[in-house]
Amino acid sequence: MVRPGKVKNSAKPATRAVWAGEKKNFWERSTQVPVALGVSFAYADVDEWLSVAQGKSAGHIYSRNTNPTVAVFEEKIRDLESAEAATSFASGMAAISNTLFTLLSPGDRIVSIKDTYGGTNKIFVEFLPRFGIHVALCDTNDHDEIESEIGKGCDVVYLETPTNPTVKVVDIARLAAAAHRQGAIVVVDNTFATPINQLPVQLGADLAIHSATKFLGGHADALGGVVCGKADLIAKIYHFREITGACLDPMAAYLLLRGMKTLHLRIAQQNKSALKLAQFLESHPRVTQVFYPGLKSHDHFDIARKQMRGFGGVLSFAIEGGFKAVKSFLPRLRYAHLAANLGAVETVAGPPATTSHVESSRQEREAAGIPEALIRYSVGIEDTEDLIADLNQALDQGFAVPRRNKKVS
Ligand SMILES: *Cc1c(COP(=O)(O)O)cnc(C)c1O
Repeated sequence: MVRPGKVKNSAKPATRAVWAGEKKNFWERSTQVPVALGVSFAYADVDEWLSVAQGKSAGHIYSRNTNPTVAVFEEKIRDLESAEAATSFASGMAAISNTLFTLLSPGDRIVSIKDTYGGTNKIFVEFLPRFGIHVALCDTNDHDEIESEIGKGCDVVYLETPTNPTVKVVDIARLAAAAHRQGAIVVVDNTFATPINQLPVQLGADLAIHSATKFLGGHADALGGVVCGKADLIAKIYHFREITGACLDPMAAYLLLRGMKTLHLRIAQQNKSALKLAQFLESHPRVTQVFYPGLKSHDHFDIARKQMRGFGGVLSFAIEGGFKAVKSFLPRLRYAHLAANLGAVETVAGPPATTSHVESSRQEREAAGIPEALIRYSVGIEDTEDLIADLNQALDQGFAVPRRNKKVS
C-alpha cells in the first residue's frame, strides 16, 4: 500500500517537489490540496475532541496551532530538506525571530556572521541584547575567527549561506562541527540556496530556516517562513509559535505549495542563467565587481562547490560611477522589477540600500562591506540570452552619453 503524502526514499528532488505531502484522498477526492480557511474544527464526540486536543490522535483544533493546508506545506518542505520535522510561520522574519527566542535565554551566547539578512542583523544588534543575550558577530570571510568565537563557548551558532547581498559562502560542515563540540545548536538560513542546491541538515545543521516568500513560493505573491530540523527542537519552536501566534495563513500556504511544485525547474533555470550572467558581467568593462559563488574568482568557490549542488539565482555586481550610475542604470533594465524581493519567476533588481539592507544605516552597510554602487540581481526564469542582452543595453546606454560628451568637449 502506498502511504499518502509519502514519497519513496530513493525519489529525486524533482519528484519530491511535486509529490511530497500530496495525498490521493483530499476532501471530496480533490487532486489539489483544498484551502482550509476555517478557523476551527468541529467534533461531534467530546472524547474524540479531547483526544485530538491532547495530541493523542491526529486532527486539528484551531488554525493558529495547526491547519490542514498549512500541514501539507510543512510536509513538502520537511521532505525536501530531508529533516525530521518542520513548522511554519507568517514570514521568514517570524520564523527567524521565533526560533531565536525559543532557543535563547538571558545570559546565553550566540555566534553569527556580520552578513546576515538585514532584519536578522537587527535582531542581533537591537533586540537580543535587551534580553541579556550576548551576541558575537564575526567577519563572514574569516572562518578562523568564527571558529575561535564558537570555541569560547556558545549556545547557538546562526549561519546564512550564500549571504545577502554579496553572496558570501560559509562552510556549514566545518562550523557545525565546531559548534557541536561546544554543545551549541546550529541554525542555517537556507533561503538563497533552497533545498535543491543545498541541504544544511545533511551538512550537520540542526535547523534550516527559509523565507518561503522567496524561491520556495517563487511568484512573489505570498509571505511565509519555515523551520525544518530535529523533531525535539521543532516541537519547542512550534510551542513558542502557537503562543506568539505568528502562524502561516492557509491561503498563503496554498500559494507557496503551488509554487513549490515547480521549484526544481525554476532553480535549474536560475542556476544556469545566473552563472552565464555572472560570467558576462565579469567580462564587461563597466562592471567593477561581480559576486557569484559559481565564479572561479569568488573567494569561496571551493566551499560552494563542496556543499552546493548549484550556485543559486542571486548575484550582485558594482558598476562604474557610484550610486548615481546605479540610479540611472536600474530603470533602463527592461526585464527586471525594481523591487525589494528576490527568488521570483521575474528578474528583480535593486540596490541593497532599498532591499536587503533597508533596515541598516549607510555606516552599517559600509561596515558590512557592501559597496553603495552595488546592484543585487535576482535572476528570473526568462531566457538567458534575453537577460544578457538587457543587461548589455542598459550598461552601454548609460555610459555612451558621458563618453560622447567627453569627445565633443
Ligand atoms: C527575505 C529574507 C528573509 C526575511 O523573510 P521575510 O519573508 O521577508 O520575512 C530572511 N532571510 C533571507 C536570506 C531573506 O532573503
